[in-house]
Amino acid sequence: MAAPRLAVTVILTRDPDSTEIYLVERNPKLRFFGGYYAFPGGTLDHDDGSVEIQNCDKVAQESVAYLVAAAREIFEETGILLTRGEQPVATKHLRAYRVDLLAGRVTFQKILEKENHHLDARDFHYVDTLLTPEFAPVRYDTQFYWASLPEGQMPEIIPGELVDGGFFTAEAALAKWQRGEMAIVPPVVFILQEMVDKSLRDGIPEVRATAESYRDGAIHEIYFTPGVLMLPLKTRPLPPAEYTNAYLVGEKQLYLIDPGPSNPREQDRLWRFLNKRQAEGRDLVAILLTHHHPDHIGAVSECRERFGLPVYAHRETARQLAGVQVDRLLGHGDVLELGASPDGQSGWQLNVYHTPGHASGHLAFQENRYGSVIAGDMISTLSSVIIAPPGGHMATYMQSLAFLESVTTATLYPSHGPAVSDGGNILRHFIRHRQEREQKLLSALTQTPQSISELVRRVYDDVSPEIWPLAEKSLEAGLIKLIEDGRCRRLADGFISECESR
Ligand SMILES: [Zn+2]
Repeated sequence: MAAPRLAVTVILTRDPDSTEIYLVERNPKLRFFGGYYAFPGGTLDHDDGSVEIQNCDKVAQESVAYLVAAAREIFEETGILLTRGEQPVATKHLRAYRVDLLAGRVTFQKILEKENHHLDARDFHYVDTLLTPEFAPVRYDTQFYWASLPEGQMPEIIPGELVDGGFFTAEAALAKWQRGEMAIVPPVVFILQEMVDKSLRDGIPEVRATAESYRDGAIHEIYFTPGVLMLPLKTRPLPPAEYTNAYLVGEKQLYLIDPGPSNPREQDRLWRFLNKRQAEGRDLVAILLTHHHPDHIGAVSECRERFGLPVYAHRETARQLAGVQVDRLLGHGDVLELGASPDGQSGWQLNVYHTPGHASGHLAFQENRYGSVIAGDMISTLSSVIIAPPGGHMATYMQSLAFLESVTTATLYPSHGPAVSDGGNILRHFIRHRQEREQKLLSALTQTPQSISELVRRVYDDVSPEIWPLAEKSLEAGLIKLIEDGRCRRLADGFISECESR
C-alpha cells in the first residue's frame, strides 16, 4: 500500500459564529468525484515548506507546509489571498498573480515577496486530520483548517477543474444533499453533519472526537449519497481486494448488506458500529446477502445471533451456503420497505434484482429515492470481476450486466472499491471490456488445440502474469460461452476455433 498523500483543506467562512462554509463544485467531467461539492484544498507542493509564517506556535511550527499549501490552494482555487501586509494587494494584481500561479509562471512565495505580504499562523484555525480509510486506492492524509474571508475579498471560480462555488450553512447544504440536489464528497458530508447547530468558532469538537475514534479503529461513516452507508471491512483477501464493502441502507430502519469479515477483531469493529447506530435510535431490520462467496458472509451467522436479525437471500444462495441459516428467500422484483427517506418522503423502498452470472444466486439492490444501486460483485471498481465456472456463467453474467445498466442512472456501490457517481457509465465500460475480451479470445483460437493456460497468455497479455491464475477462470467461462454460441469446440487436448475459414 502506497504512503498516503499529504493534503490540506480550507473551510472558508464569512461568519465564524455560524455554520456558514464555502463549497466549490468539481467539474462534472472529472473522473474523481466529478460534479461533487467539496471544500477548497489540495495536495502539498514540495516548496510549500520554504515559505515563512509569522506567529507560529509549537503546533503550527510542525505544520508550516500545510499552512502554506492551504493559503496557496485557496488562492489558486478561489482567488482569496489569506495574507497580511501594510497595503492590501490591488484587485487587478490579484487576478494576474492567480493566473500566473496557475500557469506555473510564478511561485506563491514570489507573489508574497513582491507585495511585501506574509502569512500569519493565527489566520488558520486547525480543525483536525483525517486519513482516507484503507479501502481506497489513493489515500489522503488531510489537515482541515477554517479561515475567515478577508474584508473586501470575494471568492471567484475560474472554470476548469472547478465550475462553481458558493456559501452555504451546514444545515442548508445537508438539506440540499438529502433532497438529492447536491452531491458532496464523503469527508465533507461527515464534517457538515458534525457542524449542525454548532459554530466554527467552537472548533467543531465533534469532528475531533470522531476523528479520534477513527484513529482508534472505529469504522468511518462514508456517505456518497444519502441513505446508503458504506462500511469497508477487511475480509479474506482475494487480490487485489482485501476489503469487502458492507452497506447499511435506510435511515431509521436499516438493512445490513454483506457483513463479510470472518476475523473476530474486524467483526468487533462492525458490532461496535451497529451498536452505535442502535443507540442513536435506529432499528436493524435484516441482513441481506448479494451472494454466497466467503468474503461476503464471514460475519453473517454471528451477526444473526448477536442482533437477532433474520437473513434474506436468493434461493440459489441459500442452497450454496454451508452453516448459514437463511430466513427468507428473495427473488427478482421483490420490494423491501425502507420507511421515510432521509428528506422525509414516504414510499421509500429497496428493489431486489436477481443478477446471476458471477454467482447463480446473485442479487443487486436499488433504492428508489436517489436511484443508488448496491451492485455486489457485478462489478468492482478495483479490477475486473472473476467469472469462475461452474458457479459463474459468462453469457448469464453479460445479460445481468446489461439489465443492471438499463436501470442504473445514479450512484453505483460495488462490493470492492469506492462508489462511482455515474454508475451507468461504468457498467457500459465493463460491458465493452468483456466484449473486447471475447473478441480477443475468438481471434486467439485457431485450428490447433490450445490449453487454457496457453490461451490466457495471449488473451490477457495486457495484465500482470500474477493475475493469470485468476484470469484463467474467466477465460474458461468465456470459452464455455463461445462453445454455447457454436464458435468454439473443446477437444481432448485443448480448444479450437469452430469457424472453418480461419
Ligand atoms: Zn463474489
